[in-house]
Amino acid sequence: MHIGRSWGGGGHLEAACPCPLELCGLVDLDKVSDECDQHSPAAGKTTRTGHRSGDCPGVGRDVVVAIGRTAVAHQAVIDAACLESSSGYVNASILGALDDYRAAVEHEAAERIRAETQHAKAMGVLEPDKFRPCRDAADQIDPEATYG
Ligand SMILES: [Zn+2]
Ligand SMILES: [Zn+2]
Repeated sequence: MHIGRSWGGGGHLEAACPCPLELCGLVDLDKVSDECDQHSPAAGKTTRTGHRSGDCPGVGRDVVVAIGRTAVAHQAVIDAACLESSSGYVNASILGALDDYRAAVEHEAAERIRAETQHAKAMGVLEPDKFRPCRDAADQIDPEATYG
């Protein structure tokens, strides 16, 4: 079981506590640190989000949302293309659909970099001076940052 004390995914409590973090940003119930005053059963605090280990998406919530948006944009391109071939005319909506798809893919890529960077930082395996360039690169790919 992966658990978190913030609504809707891993939050600042998980980032700040001594427990090791899973890729989803939550804490594995079996790996809770004895020193943690947030997740240890002795702390008696409410769990606000969670999923079974087998259902773990393996990525943070922002990435899951971004993947969903890419799938919707992908379908919109297919729909616009089908409309075009059946009408026999160039359908202008395909241009907008392609732009939206590109934006969705770039957003997803940037969210993956942000999530990985955030995870590495929280696990203490990314030196502070390496953190900002990674984050800057993601922001240049996609300025639409969703920092939790
Ligand atoms: Zn903890
Ligand atoms: Zn998980």
